[in-house]
Amino acid sequence: MVLKILLIIAVVVIIYFVFFKKKPLKNSDKSDVSDMVECSACGVYTQIEDSIISNNKYYCSKECLEKR
Ligand SMILES: [Zn+2]
Repeated sequence: MVLKILLIIAVVVIIYFVFFKKKPLKNSDKSDVSDMVECSACGVYTQIEDSIISNNKYYCSKECLEKR
């Protein structure tokens, strides 16, 4: 009886962690670390999708690309 209750609690806790812990972790990892690049002209950090890549350097905007 007690073992069964403990097993149910364990399953619920595992489900809770799988659904609530994984999602935010994955999101913050992606946007904070791997997807941020530093602009070579002004030093501002931008999302890699929003940046302009030229000569293996990242720029936050067209103005910075022309300014360099
Ligand atoms: Zn810039």
